[in-house]
Formats: sequence, C-alpha cells, structure tokens
Amino acid sequence: MSLLSVIVPCYNEKEALPFFYEAITKTAAEMQGTWPDLRFEFLFIDDGSSDDTLSVIKRLREKDKRVRYVSFSRNFGKEAGLYAGLKYARGDYAVTMDADMQDPPDLLPDMYRAVTEEGYDSAATRRVTRKGEPPLRSLFARIFYRLINRMSAADIVDGARDYRIMTRRMIDTIVDMREYNRFTKGIYGWIGFDTKWIEFENVERVAGETKWSFWKLFKYALEGIIGFSTVPLSIATLFGILMSAVAFFGIIFIIIKKLIIGDPTSGWSSMVCIMLLIAGIQLFCMGVIGQYLSKTYLETKRRPIFIAKTTSDEDET
Ligand code: UDP
Ligand code: MG
Repeated sequence: MSLLSVIVPCYNEKEALPFFYEAITKTAAEMQGTWPDLRFEFLFIDDGSSDDTLSVIKRLREKDKRVRYVSFSRNFGKEAGLYAGLKYARGDYAVTMDADMQDPPDLLPDMYRAVTEEGYDSAATRRVTRKGEPPLRSLFARIFYRLINRMSAADIVDGARDYRIMTRRMIDTIVDMREYNRFTKGIYGWIGFDTKWIEFENVERVAGETKWSFWKLFKYALEGIIGFSTVPLSIATLFGILMSAVAFFGIIFIIIKKLIIGDPTSGWSSMVCIMLLIAGIQLFCMGVIGQYLSKTYLETKRRPIFIAKTTSDEDET
C-alpha cells in the first residue's frame, strides 16, 4: 500500500472546488487502475476564506472520507497553506496543486511514476508558455527569475509551478525548514534532491479570480530575493567603492586644474546635485539593510507559520 496526499491550498475557491474535486477523483480512479495498491487523501487547506469554501469542503468530506481539511484562523497566504499541507499530510508521497485547475491533473500519473519507478525524489512542473497572462506581468516575472538566479545559490526555475510531487523524505525535509518568511520555490531549489521536470502549456483558471495582485506578486518577488540571496547587501559596498573612485579622480582633476589654469572651483548647483545623489544612494542602501533587518526581526519572533482553527481530525473526535 502507498498513500498519496493531494494538498490543495484554497482561498475563496468555492466556485472552482467542485470542478477540481471532480477532476482529481477521476484522475485518482484512473491511477488506481494502473496502481491497485495506491490510496489517496485529499487535503484541503482553507486559507481563511471569506466565502463558503470551508462548507463546500465539509460537504465533500461528508460523502468522501478521503477528504480532509485544515482551516486557518485568518488568511496566511499560499505559502503557509503549502506548509500546513505538508505538515498534516500522512502520505508516503505528497503532491501540492492549485484549486483552480491551472495544474492539470492529467500530469499526475507521469509525476507519480517519476517518484515511484524512475527513482526521482520529486517531480515538478513548469509551464513553457504564459499565454493568457497580462504581458506586463510576464515581463516582470521573467526579469525576476533572471535576477534571482544571478544572485542566489538556490536554482529557481522560470515558469516553475507549485505543482510538485515529492517523497516522504523530501516532505520531512521541507517541514523541518521552519522559516517564517517562506518562498517555497527557493526552498525546493535550495534543498536539492533529484527533480524531474515536466513541461506543459499554460492553462487558464476554471472559475473565480486570481488572488494575486501585481503588488502582492512584487512583494513575493522581494521575499524571494531577500530570502535566498545576500547580494543586495553588497550593493552598499559596491556603491561606496565606486563613489570613492569618482571622488578621488575628481580631487586630482581639480588640483591640477587649479595649478595650471589657476581657476578657483565654482559650481554651486553641481555641488548640490552631487550631495543629493550621494544622500539618495545612502538612503537606498540603508533601505536594503533595513529589509534584511526586518526579516531577521520577524524571524527571531518565532511566530507560527499558520494557525489552524479547525481540522477534520479535530472536528470528528
Ligand atoms: N491561495 C491561497 N491563499 C492565498 C492566495 C491563493 O491559498 O492567499 C491559493 C488559491 O486558492 C489557489 C492557489 O493558491 O489554489 C493559486 O492561487 P491563484 O490561482 O489565485 O494564483 P495564480 O494561479 O493566479 O498565480
Ligand atoms: Mg491560478
């Protein structure tokens, strides 16, 4: 017997959930045809939804005991949802996927084969197109991936989704990484293990709306950079060296000019501009340091990553 946990973070997904449930149970039945020893659990993480998501899940549980849930006390974000899912999962394998059908269940058999028969620790998916996404968003996403891969040891794949199956060993490793500021894509890249990449074309969400605003994505990108690279901290050093070099040559230039031409230094406005520039750079560098400091501050509080209000296990005992 082996158990596969399907982990689904849900935030206001009452429209998409019935579609998702139908699709995943269909795939599950097909997979059990191929692998008769395979069992499933569907673990829904209700991320503090303000709509009826939890009651939809509870209704699913009434007719299908393979459904389990964890409901958060408020919205903690998808990262917290993924973490909670991996923590509560009982499976020998776990797969994390979105509730909106953007992660096609059809890929699951191949992913399962990779971790059971082909000896991989994990199989992950990446979309090769970003069709149907606002162009500006795609552009920024691309810039972000290029930047972070230059700056970080964790290799983070462009277009990688959080749709990933992994072995128990990998689940336990991730659950042990208790950082409060989570960037799961970076964590996967950082811990290593053998990963098989499966590619697919972008699919648009089946119902409901995306939960990510541009601003939320921007903050998420910063989270990734600050969480997995300390390169921005070196920026201050770099600017410092650069500025000193410029100043040094400036001084020599002025002295020589004074000696040869005898012209007293003039230029009040250029002076002000230079001072403003330097003050700006200094504030910018302090801001960068401040970002790291604030993350460190939050990290040292050791707050829980999520707070569960109810779980299916508790509700029924
Ligand atoms: N999600 C979540 N908490 C949040 C935001 C999103 O659990 O605060 C879930 C959401 O319900 C969905 C998945 O994360 O299952 C991906 O969200 P979405 O489809 O809105 O993101 P996109 O696919 O547009 O990147
Ligand atoms: Mg989506």
